[in-house]
Amino acid sequence: MPPHPTPTPTPTIAGVHIDTRHWINGRRSESASGETFPDLSPIDNTELAQISRGGKPEAHAAVAAAKAAFPAWAATPPPARARILHAIADGVEKRLEELAQVETADNGALVRSHRRGVMPRVAHNFRFFADWLTNNLSHPDFDTKTHTEVHSNTRRNHVSWDPAGPCVLITPWNAPLMMESWKVAPALAAGNTVVLKPAEWSPLTASLLADIAAEAGLPAGVLNVVQGYGAEAGQALVEHPDVRRISFTGSVPTAQHIATAAAANLTPTSLELGGKSPLLVLDDADLDLAVELAVEQYDNAGQVCLAGTRLLVHESIEAEFTQRFIGRASNLTQGDPRDTATDIGPNIHARQLEKIDGFVQRAVAAGATAVIGGGPNTDLNERLGGLYYRPTLLTGLGQDAEAVQEEIFGPVLTLQTFSSDDEAIALANGTRFGLAATVVSGDRAHADRIAARLVAGTVWVNCFYVRDLRAPFGGSRRSGVGREGGTWSFDFYCDLKNTVTAQQTFTAQQTFTTQQTSTTQESGSDHG
Ligand code: NAP
Ligand code: MG
Repeated sequence: MPPHPTPTPTPTIAGVHIDTRHWINGRRSESASGETFPDLSPIDNTELAQISRGGKPEAHAAVAAAKAAFPAWAATPPPARARILHAIADGVEKRLEELAQVETADNGALVRSHRRGVMPRVAHNFRFFADWLTNNLSHPDFDTKTHTEVHSNTRRNHVSWDPAGPCVLITPWNAPLMMESWKVAPALAAGNTVVLKPAEWSPLTASLLADIAAEAGLPAGVLNVVQGYGAEAGQALVEHPDVRRISFTGSVPTAQHIATAAAANLTPTSLELGGKSPLLVLDDADLDLAVELAVEQYDNAGQVCLAGTRLLVHESIEAEFTQRFIGRASNLTQGDPRDTATDIGPNIHARQLEKIDGFVQRAVAAGATAVIGGGPNTDLNERLGGLYYRPTLLTGLGQDAEAVQEEIFGPVLTLQTFSSDDEAIALANGTRFGLAATVVSGDRAHADRIAARLVAGTVWVNCFYVRDLRAPFGGSRRSGVGREGGTWSFDFYCDLKNTVTAQQTFTAQQTFTTQQTSTTQESGSDHG
């Protein structure tokens, strides 16, 4: 027997046929090497499919396809581009149940979250950027006169968001299609073409997205999907000199590799990275709300970049908070993520489970206490064969402790106390990260004072995880470079251009007005 069975190009997973080869220039293709790699399900750690293992030839073919498709897509009028993005959203909605089940089989996140929250949001992401393109991406015009001017001769400045070219989009496994849609939708709306490289641990829904986009009428080469390992397919893509943008979500070490590769070509790069976000419970907080928000940090088995994994609680309410937290957390049901009664599913991979447990065991060995959890869920792992880790809360840790400083990316929270606002801020800001923070307080002015002093891309007050696509999203410090969302996305995915016209060199009839320029945009003639 060979080590891997001959790959079936269209395995059936959760009743869905999925073509696990690359999608390049509007067709499916295997790797030139003929090699594949196994994709496992964290639910029971069994093999779901063999996936084409892309390398340089596939990366280069995909970038060439994206480059060839770029001029026509960039010249497609915005309303026509928007129509196709809405058709992709329709396709996501039509196949919502399939996408929910496939994603759950592949990465182990709860099917109930995929049905209710994630997949509807994926569709919304396409609709949002389509609508932003046609409704909100106004072209500002403003007039300039130089200070040396004797005669009044106005120059009209006209700002346009021109498509940039082929974009490489690289995504992690914790929320695959969600992250992919956050990048693919604005990149395509902006008039760019795309090569997507999904994570090797969760490659399946990207393959389905390629089918959905083709059915929606997206021309060949506009969206390409290259499967494979980051160090092979990913590296070949980010090194390619024809790539005009790289958008990456993942870990800090990978971001450093990518930034280095991008530097060689001066490719603009957007990096959304890890976090070690604080959740501050002030002494005036509603404790029920605080406990509810704290327990929410176990969502997706702790595999959420934004998770407020460091609970920082005022010392006067710590005993009461901890008691209530333990009560609430022990009511969580851990199990098969396909079961809608499950609150916490498995972690993604055996290697990840080992890594999580390493953090916990080292913390305990250094004197921390696991007041709940503290190890894998052995009962479940024996019964289901999967990769389940018990929700864990660590106390007794100093600010320098590894478990306080490093992203664990599992269901592990730490708890520290503070006695003043200054101390709360010092703890909250005392890591290398700056992705997000949550403040729980019953006093608006107090919450605002704390929020103003936090170093974070997003601060939530008395809520968590709500992301409005009109607002900027990204991280400070080691948590990222750049912001995406609303106009910020178009700023990143476009080449901004200012056209300065000496107004009085034209007759009055030829002088553009704002109204006329937006008509020009409608016809697409300034998007070539
Ligand atoms: P990762 O190991 O950095 O991988 C992310 C992606 O990069 C994967 O597709 C990976 O491929 C690829 N990659 C690896 N090496 C590469 C290279 N040399 N060149 C190009 N691509 C390469 O991250 P992860 O473990 O999948 O995801 C977890 C991390 O993502 C956590 O740190 C989490 O906080 C972060 N995250 C951040 C956000 C945010 O918005 N800020 C959101 C979600 C997750 P392989 O799959 O083959 O390794
Ligand atoms: Mg998988």
